[in-house]
Amino acid sequence: MTPQGLYVHIPFCLKKCDYCDFCSFPGIDEETQRKYIKALQKEIEFDTGASAETVYIGGGTPTSLSKKNLLRLMEAVGKPSASTEYSVESNPGTIDFYKLKILKDAGVNRLSIGAQSFDDNELKSLGRIHNCEEIYESYEAAIRSGFSNINIDLMFALPGQTLNDWTGTLKKAVKLRPKHISTYNLQIEEGTPLSAKAVQQDNETEYQMYKGTIDFLKSEGYIHYEISNFCLPGFECKHNINYWENGDYKGFGLSASSHIKWARHKNTGDLKEYLSDPINSKKKEKRAKKDEIAETMFMGLRLIKGIDLNKFEKRFKKPVEELFGKEIQELSEKGLVEQSSHHLRLTGKGLFVANEVFERFV
Ligand code: SF4
Repeated sequence: MTPQGLYVHIPFCLKKCDYCDFCSFPGIDEETQRKYIKALQKEIEFDTGASAETVYIGGGTPTSLSKKNLLRLMEAVGKPSASTEYSVESNPGTIDFYKLKILKDAGVNRLSIGAQSFDDNELKSLGRIHNCEEIYESYEAAIRSGFSNINIDLMFALPGQTLNDWTGTLKKAVKLRPKHISTYNLQIEEGTPLSAKAVQQDNETEYQMYKGTIDFLKSEGYIHYEISNFCLPGFECKHNINYWENGDYKGFGLSASSHIKWARHKNTGDLKEYLSDPINSKKKEKRAKKDEIAETMFMGLRLIKGIDLNKFEKRFKKPVEELFGKEIQELSEKGLVEQSSHHLRLTGKGLFVANEVFERFV
């Protein structure tokens, strides 16, 4: 069976950002990167059904690879059909016209740029490798090399950031008219360098920034289609929509997860182990039907249109009311979710306390 999505993880970055707790290693030499891509190729080739409707290469920073290794990566993944949404994540400071041409020529048609902020002081305090000028250079290089479907990743609620600062970043991002904007509320994770020097913004500030984001981006013509994601009409990220709909996908590379027919497999996060045996590094996670149902609920509610109730019933052979009647009624009474004949979704009020709502379905 062909899955909807195919994910490839590149766990390398030039330097670790101060807030990062993702699976990524800084300063890895070119030879190790080459071995990693070889291992990836082995894993992909072993999986003969490794074709999909969407392909997403994420990280880490895929574009931190050298040009030679980037070419090898493109060969390992293969050129999908022109109708495939093919995305690659990148970061300013690791891209130039030539690298972007390699991606474009290999069929990549959607580029995500991790800008995070358009304020040099904020970028510095996050430990990012780039400044604001390099964001503009990257964006301009992306356009010149032929990309028109570009996402910009931004983060708000940064330590010391004011509502005014955040609005400034949003305005600069919108001025570029990217087709897609992702905005994440920075969570300061324990054990990261940032946690030693900064504290999480208070709830009220986070609320004001999130509300301001929605209002501003909507007024600029962006559609709010997922809690943290906005796009110009027709430019939703299909790959991620499949995640939120809890669809099938295959993941390749370090720490990558696959979700096929209710089964979830996760690759090892140990680089040495993966390099020595990429095919047998997958572990099946123990899951019950109720886990699949809970996941479908809280992932689906992330979408602004909500969960398609007909699809839900077809998939789990029961209407949602039979499984969560009490929870839905209580949340509706609090004004946090609303139900139409086809969808169950968060209300405007529910959006701001989404985690509280999700917990009711776990
Ligand atoms: S670029 Fe992304 S993955 Fe790499 S260290 Fe920074 S936050 Fe982590």
